[in-house]
Amino acid sequence: MVAAVQVRNDLWMTASGASMRAMVFERVGAPLVPMTRPIPVAGPGQLLLRVHACAVCRTDLHLIDGEVEIAEPPRIFGHQVVASTVPDGRRVGVPWLGWTCGECYQCLAGRENLCVRARFTGCDIDGGYAEYMVADERFCFALPGEQSDEQTAPLLCAGLIGYRALGMCGEAQRIGFYGFGAAAHILTQVVRWQGREVYAFTRPGDETTQGSARELGAVWAGSSEDLPPQALDAAIIFAPVGPLVPAALRAVRPGGVVVCGGIHMSDIPSFPYEILWGERSVRSVANLTRADGSEFLALAPRADVQTQISTYPLEAANEALEDLRHGRFEGSAVLVP
Ligand SMILES: [Zn+2]
Ligand SMILES: [Zn+2]
Repeated sequence: MVAAVQVRNDLWMTASGASMRAMVFERVGAPLVPMTRPIPVAGPGQLLLRVHACAVCRTDLHLIDGEVEIAEPPRIFGHQVVASTVPDGRRVGVPWLGWTCGECYQCLAGRENLCVRARFTGCDIDGGYAEYMVADERFCFALPGEQSDEQTAPLLCAGLIGYRALGMCGEAQRIGFYGFGAAAHILTQVVRWQGREVYAFTRPGDETTQGSARELGAVWAGSSEDLPPQALDAAIIFAPVGPLVPAALRAVRPGGVVVCGGIHMSDIPSFPYEILWGERSVRSVANLTRADGSEFLALAPRADVQTQISTYPLEAANEALEDLRHGRFEGSAVLVP
């Protein structure tokens, strides 16, 4: 009965144009601003969602710092959202890919992640740093899982885009992760479950993170300046640090691949051709397709992926972002409105 009353409240609030709390980006370099905003109204094909948890992503830091541009501020961030539909209460996840045109050459070739008119949640469309949001139903994922909303949220970007990056490593057996944050926490569990080996590279001297990488099942953990005990088949760089590209190239065997997993990276220093020679390759991973999402969200429970989270109230979004910037937690920060 409580649920039914809840639903009626939602409807009433929506119909009467009630307001919600949100953390709003106004300009580059400034903290997000707590604001009261009208609850958005779902248009055709959209869902009105009550946000239950929204994980913080490094991309949000790049947006604040102006390294990735927000075309039309003000904007509500947040693209790892676990929410329920209003009024019928279905649990859904909202990822970074918020809308695609379906007709450009990339969409027609099955590369909707590269759609030339793509719109991204929490960047081009208001996201989940709020009590409510609207989302295109076609880009939401059903979330039947048993894990809590807070624990599920980091799967929607850290997990999902990490999984796309992992796909680019092909059949690699020995896989290096440079930067052991939220994505590497999740992927280490997937890679182990698949019977492959993880080599974890952290900032020099970060023994805490190296320890937690070993606890999660990395066969080796060390400094990004070190070479692994054996040459790697592939490496994924999650840290937005250009000098890691030549470091990873030195760690992979001939024919190996280095995948850059972030949306932004500092400049890559020049390096001798011999570390690329031998058919090594360097490539980036961009965004996600809905197929990536469905595949990963089905696999995560089978691999028994457990996310490590630190929760923050919505109003503490700026603290969560600064804690991420300074590496003050393991795993993911999750906002709970
Ligand atoms: Zn993200
Ligand atoms: Zn398109």
